[in-house]
Amino acid sequence: MYDLIVVGAGPAGATLARLAGARLRTLLVDRRTGACELGPRGAKCCGGLLAPDAQRALAALGLGLPGDALVGPQLFAVRAIDVASGRERHYPRSYLNVDRGRFDAWLRALVPPEVEVRMGVRAVALRDEGTAIAVELWGPRGPCVERARLVVGADGAGSRVRRLAFPRTPEPTTYVAIQEWFEARSADPCYTALFDAAATDFYGWAIPKADRLVIGAALPQGGDAPARFARIVAALEGAGVRHGRTLGREGTLLHRPAPAELLCGGGRVALAGEAAGFVSPSSAEGVSFALRSAAALAEALEPGLDGWFARYRARTAGLRRAIRWKSWKSPALYVPLVRRAILASGVGAMAVGESPRATPARLAALARAPR
Ligand SMILES: Cc1cc2nc3c(=O)[nH]c(=O)nc-3n(C[C@H](O)[C@H](O)[C@H](O)COP(=O)(O)OP(=O)(O)OC[C@H]3O[C@@H](n4cnc5c(N)ncnc54)[C@H](O)[C@@H]3O)c2cc1C
Repeated sequence: MYDLIVVGAGPAGATLARLAGARLRTLLVDRRTGACELGPRGAKCCGGLLAPDAQRALAALGLGLPGDALVGPQLFAVRAIDVASGRERHYPRSYLNVDRGRFDAWLRALVPPEVEVRMGVRAVALRDEGTAIAVELWGPRGPCVERARLVVGADGAGSRVRRLAFPRTPEPTTYVAIQEWFEARSADPCYTALFDAAATDFYGWAIPKADRLVIGAALPQGGDAPARFARIVAALEGAGVRHGRTLGREGTLLHRPAPAELLCGGGRVALAGEAAGFVSPSSAEGVSFALRSAAALAEALEPGLDGWFARYRARTAGLRRAIRWKSWKSPALYVPLVRRAILASGVGAMAVGESPRATPARLAALARAPR
């Protein structure tokens, strides 16, 4: 029997296994095989930008990023575009642009050798046996059951562990995220965020990655998500974001939690990272929350497993406050009138000499155009 079974070896699960795995007998499983290739295959569907909060979280963990996890260009500006008004501004922001597959592989490589890591293994069922939790696993060698004193769901948005262990607790508000990878046509050295209320009440983005460009959007769930995504791509094209041949498309779920939807777990099941709902409801930035919640859980487990829940709740109070604050400031970005006023004011924006201009007429025409 293990002390801990950690389901999910993304930033939250790998960090928890790194910090707690030398002291507690730990099994770390992930349904992915661990293969990583830049593009729509293998790695977590993600923009792969490390915002300042994530950079601070890495610093607090005493980590520096290896060069091969980075992918050019590094980005120092966000270009914000409001389709309805045709307004756009550049804002100074400093992101690290990473290859998400390599970033996750690096975090997994830091897990101590005492931890048993099984990749390509999926958790499919949980059973509470009183003194332990039995986890049914499916892997290349067929099904098996492993037991632990505590199971950690670090399995991201739409967490199966959360659904199985807490079926009566509502899930965080969930969007469907689509990303399409293209050959890059021009080196637009910024992160473009596009707001088009007709396509989504969240946002779309374009991020250059080496010789590729990834266009993505977080969209309300429903059968019309591909059409909404096409509208975002067309609007970005209208704003001058040029791309070449498509290389493939990927999709996943993304939480946009209200503060009341956060759940640290309970009993013999803990939740960390996006499975707990820890992800910014205003920007979808989730890596800092994954790292910080995993570190909080590792600290909570330091005195032993008994009483972990109260210690974990206390250590994640700051994360809950951060989500509350981000929910509170969300209207500044997502209420069209407020956003328009902010863009019009130019507060905090910077002048950029050669940026392509998005005129209202061009944006509107391109967003309407059939593809
Ligand atoms: C399209 C998109 C773009 C994003 N862009 C950014 C960005 O640029 N910057 C940023 O900071 N955040 C971004 N986010 C959010 C960020 O990706 C997540 O919040 C972050 O990855 C959460 O980390 P995690 O470890 O909690 O979960 P994940 O990274 O999702 O890891 C969960 C792991 O669990 C595994 N798993 C799932 N179910 C099972 C199972 N049943 N059995 C075994 N393993 C399982 C998965 O394979 C995965 O490896 C983005 C999200 C999306 C959807």
